[in-house]
Amino acid sequence: MIIVMQKHTEESKVEVVVAELSRRGFDVHRSTGTGQTVLGVVGDVAQIDPREFELFDGVQEVVRVSEPYKLSSRTFRREDTVVEVKNGIKVGGKEVVVMAGPCTIENERQLFETARAVGRAGARVLRGGAYKPRSSPYAFQGMGVEGLKLLHAAGQEFGMATVSEVMEISQIETMLGYVDILQIGARNMQNFNLLTAVGQTRKPVLLKRGMSATVEEWLLAAEYVLAGGNYQVILCERGIRTFDTYMRNTLDIGAIPVVHKLSHLPIVIDPSHATGRRDKVAPLARAGVAAGADGLLIEVHVEPEKALCDGPQSLYPEQFVELMDELRIIVPAVRRTLG
Ligand code: PEP
Ligand code: MN
Repeated sequence: MIIVMQKHTEESKVEVVVAELSRRGFDVHRSTGTGQTVLGVVGDVAQIDPREFELFDGVQEVVRVSEPYKLSSRTFRREDTVVEVKNGIKVGGKEVVVMAGPCTIENERQLFETARAVGRAGARVLRGGAYKPRSSPYAFQGMGVEGLKLLHAAGQEFGMATVSEVMEISQIETMLGYVDILQIGARNMQNFNLLTAVGQTRKPVLLKRGMSATVEEWLLAAEYVLAGGNYQVILCERGIRTFDTYMRNTLDIGAIPVVHKLSHLPIVIDPSHATGRRDKVAPLARAGVAAGADGLLIEVHVEPEKALCDGPQSLYPEQFVELMDELRIIVPAVRRTLG
């Protein structure tokens, strides 16, 4: 349920409503837009008669949200959410934010050389996995905390923020010291305990879409994070499983306008995992930006043929530079900017 306060209502009137809701045991999430406060009421709201709250001073209207997700819906927050990562890097604002780097952190040289290349080309966020969700238990599982230290150092050295995947609750504490964005992978999109745990932090979260998840399930996953009070969520479309096996997955470009309509959360596109092939990455990256994506997540490796993970989909640094040059033409055409 959503309680829309009248424009420019005094804070004291908002507090009276919040106090009554809290007294009745509901969680209240506030969203303040242009002069107007909206209260998201979470809990067993079926027992509330909306008319009771419409009678409170300063209340404009009480709306029942028909979607199962509440806090992530546009009804709750009409303005786009802008996730503030750090050093002026904002996802969901005017800038299209490019995040790039290797799938996996392998060693210092590989990471630093890749970081230097993507940073110079205009990437704002450095990606790199330290804990890897591998389909095979025999595949390289990541460098763990040693990898996180390298990621942090490379981000500092080349002036980029960092993003890395968290696979389980016990890793969160350590990761908070090294990364600026916690990535929840496709395979963990419905790991509800993990979602709840990152919802208790105040770190931006990059929430990948599960490979068979509907948009509604994905927004409900985001809801778990928001319900904990962490509103810094970035959605990431990384391809879904369809009947076609030509590419690793099928990029759901349509999810961009759909998410923008249903939710206020920013959405970025990962054409690397969507396609699994480096020759298809640039066309889909361009399409994603043209369709209104707020950013891109792209795998780049200095020597993809030697990569321990996802080499075939990793761009060579020169290809990444070329893609960034193309984006510099597309981005202004959709009235956005590129870092
Ligand atoms: C990744 O970003 O390296 C990754 C494992 O992605 P996904 O969870 O989308 O498969
Ligand atoms: Mn990967």
